[in-house]
Amino acid sequence: MNTSAQTSKHGVIHRYRRFLPEIPDSAITTIGEGSTPLIEAKAISERIGARLFLKFEGLNPTASFKDRGMTVAMSRAVADGNVACVCASTGNTAASASAYAARAKMKCFVVVPVGKIALGKAVQFLAHGADIIQIEGNFDAALKLSQKAIENLEGVALVNSVNPDRIEGQKTAAFEVCEELGKPPDTLAIPVGNAGNITAYWKGFSEWKEAGRSDAVPKMLGFQAEGSAPLVLGHDIEEPETVASAIRIGAPASREGAMEAAKESGGKIESVSDDEILEAQSLLASMEGVFCEPASAAGVAGLLKLARENRGPSGTVVAVLTGHGLKDPDTILSRVKLPEPIPATFEAVAGRMESSA
Ligand SMILES: *Cc1c(COP(=O)(O)O)cnc(C)c1O
Repeated sequence: MNTSAQTSKHGVIHRYRRFLPEIPDSAITTIGEGSTPLIEAKAISERIGARLFLKFEGLNPTASFKDRGMTVAMSRAVADGNVACVCASTGNTAASASAYAARAKMKCFVVVPVGKIALGKAVQFLAHGADIIQIEGNFDAALKLSQKAIENLEGVALVNSVNPDRIEGQKTAAFEVCEELGKPPDTLAIPVGNAGNITAYWKGFSEWKEAGRSDAVPKMLGFQAEGSAPLVLGHDIEEPETVASAIRIGAPASREGAMEAAKESGGKIESVSDDEILEAQSLLASMEGVFCEPASAAGVAGLLKLARENRGPSGTVVAVLTGHGLKDPDTILSRVKLPEPIPATFEAVAGRMESSA
């Protein structure tokens, strides 16, 4: 048996083991997640009047931050002797779970809302061989059904972020940010959907401080999409709507963690419109060379909005870009199109270049 992949020292479990729940070596399931770049965003920094860095989580193995939590959740599911896992998903959790389950030789059920999955994500869980359950309902219904299903099934692990192992793994991104900057940022801006990730970052920053590795924690700014902003409105939303499908969630499972993070850090949870989200996504791609999916741009959209209203943060700010732009090609293609083809002649090509120079 080739055990080199199992014993490789890549991945967040090896990098931050002393901060994570105990996992036996033989159960570790990793695809080398984590250690994503922190990219300085000079052009957008000028616009917001603060020094902005982008934590580009789109560069994880399945192209979203979900992999950080999934390595821990799947490894524990293996250690506990499970034979299958299940998750509800707007797309990225299913993409991640199906990849890690494939590696762990575990069956993977993904419960997804019909017609609401971004193309790149669906392609991923199809490729990894997930057992796909499409329901005529939204993410919130999918999560309830998944939670209910495992109550009645033996040997099946729920790998949504209500599983505390997911939060444990995801908090490692906060450690990386602190290590890379040499100290925590003054402010963290992050998209909020089911609210597991903001909860995880806050836990990470708090534990880093408790461990004596820093003497401060950042102000936490969470941003929801206007059409699905239950934490801003103060009540659940029956039918959440937004172009940012990864945060189209009306009843966040980790609401308390998010509210606590905002309150204890002196931060807040606010909302941004779909137009503001798409504008930020476009700025990131065209001015910084960083292509993220719509939901991932919510943090930067929020920073731009606060700056416009003269209430933006100063100092060092980190915005978490949660997933890669290739996840959702349709959103781009609905806004911009390839130009009409021209003849393959020098004259035609030169003419084109001159006309747009
Ligand atoms: C899951 C996800 C989110 C939302 O994270 P929560 O933990 O649900 O708040 C945001 N962006 C992307 C790309 C995601 O995959």
